[in-house]
Amino acid sequence: MSLLTILEYPDPRLRTKAEPLTEKDFTPALQQQIDDMFETMYAAPGIGLAGTQVDYHNQLIVMDVSEDKNQPRVLINPEYTPLEPTCELMQEGCLSVPEYYADVERYVRIQVKALDRHGQPQEFECDGLLAHCVQHECDHLKGIVFVDYLSRLKQDRLRKKLIKQKA
Ligand code: ZN
Repeated sequence: MSLLTILEYPDPRLRTKAEPLTEKDFTPALQQQIDDMFETMYAAPGIGLAGTQVDYHNQLIVMDVSEDKNQPRVLINPEYTPLEPTCELMQEGCLSVPEYYADVERYVRIQVKALDRHGQPQEFECDGLLAHCVQHECDHLKGIVFVDYLSRLKQDRLRKKLIKQKA
């Protein structure tokens, strides 16, 4: 296994829209990609990582929101629908925006449909941290980063801070 490089905001590659995986893509190389993404996510450490963040532009997400880091979850070609219109604010961070946290509004309860790492369909309902994480990671596959939801002012401040850090 190997650690992958995580793209950092505002890298334009984070804006790439990921392609769905097809039957022929379920190869040993895909299993390797999944294992490498888990290793990269756990090492960071983080609770979720989308392919987009490691410059892999297929619809693949790995996550583990458990405290003991023993509930790995793979979502391939994920889709979600809200189970109720209620939204809630929760503080989010992102491995692609290091050391930055902000409140983001997400659906409280969602139903998720995706394939697992072997291409088998899976379906589940979730709320809380897992629901937020699924919505955050699905955004990455569409080229959306959580800071896009912040006000212009906050985004400008963040960009200035990042430029200062790089200088
Ligand atoms: Zn993220």
